[in-house]
Amino acid sequence: MTDYLMSTYNPIPVSLTRGEGVWVWDENGKKYLDAYAGIAVTNLGHSHPQVMAALEVGIHQVLHTSNIMTISAQKQLAHRFCTMAHMDRAFFCNSGAEANETAIKLARLYGHQKNISKPTIVAMQNSFHGRTLATLSASGNTKIHKGFEPLVDGFTYIPYNDIPALQRCAQSNPNIVAVMLEPVQGEGGIRVIEDGYLEKIRALCDENGWLMILDEVQTGIGRTGALFAYQHTSILPDIVASAKGLGNGIPIGACLARGIAANLFQVGNHGSTFGGNPLCCSVANAVLSTLEDGKIYTNVLQMGAYLLEMLKKELGNIPGVVEVRGRGLMIGLELDRPCRPMLQLAADEGLLISVTSEKVIRLVPPLILQKEHADLIVTTLAKTIPMFLRQSQP
Ligand code: PLP
Repeated sequence: MTDYLMSTYNPIPVSLTRGEGVWVWDENGKKYLDAYAGIAVTNLGHSHPQVMAALEVGIHQVLHTSNIMTISAQKQLAHRFCTMAHMDRAFFCNSGAEANETAIKLARLYGHQKNISKPTIVAMQNSFHGRTLATLSASGNTKIHKGFEPLVDGFTYIPYNDIPALQRCAQSNPNIVAVMLEPVQGEGGIRVIEDGYLEKIRALCDENGWLMILDEVQTGIGRTGALFAYQHTSILPDIVASAKGLGNGIPIGACLARGIAANLFQVGNHGSTFGGNPLCCSVANAVLSTLEDGKIYTNVLQMGAYLLEMLKKELGNIPGVVEVRGRGLMIGLELDRPCRPMLQLAADEGLLISVTSEKVIRLVPPLILQKEHADLIVTTLAKTIPMFLRQSQP
């Protein structure tokens, strides 16, 4: 049959039709444990009652008004989100890439306000910030750039976890206006930040008058055991980008900002037809309200530690497994070879996973995961990974 879809993805032949909690079913009725959550999106699990209730109410109210009208669910969401994140103001959009675009535009406005005519953002090698032209240019990965040149100007890249490299930037480049990074590199293969690194970046930003931009599109909304990963530290960024889990499957992104960065946009500088629409904001309000008592964060910390420990124990010493690493319920198993066939092998055994950076099995299950689910992930991977390693070459 002619494929009418552009070839941007290469999906496995599993089509999901129903989900409940950590479980999903395909069109043939086969049941799977969801250990990828639509790539870190359905953080509260499928068909979460509060999310479904907000949707139910929302679809019977006005669906679209545009931002030329006051949207009360948007105002409420901005208040709640900023309070929880310790930020001052919010802009709502539809995706992670748009949230980062917003952050990049803020950094450029900031630069121009300081009379820097060619503002430059320091980004990290191996990073991922999205697929729009500015965000792919910000991503420190030539594979993502390839074929889309000329790139958007104004980015320079340094190695992750390398403070001396950032210090050298400060000495050599007067056009720098911001530093942009993910607290755990997600698409880059679940690369975890070193302890103390965010604090050191914050200090360098303060010394040099740069904005600190955190891309928490993947790490946010509870994924690492706090609303945002920076909340494990004592620092605050100036700008934070969020999306994925914010709508638990309903598309919404947000750029939150604090201090000077919160007041850079003037009317007409930025906007979005759909961004901040009543339905998505009502759902995001419901998502955030379920996080407010902190119980999910406790579960993420406990289950994340347990899953990581069990995976290390069962698989960490197998030849072919390079490293098991992660933070909260964001865990990567790096193999010594490309491992895309693992998607189907695991699915055949009733487990849905994702693969990133070619060689890394990524586990980003719903944050409501319980011990028996973690055990099932471990036993299924302990069966399928050795099977895959036997069948393939490094
Ligand atoms: N930033 C990070 C850290 C991401 O992981 C992603 C998506 O995987 C994005 C940005 C892009 O988000 P979206 O696909 O919603 O545009």
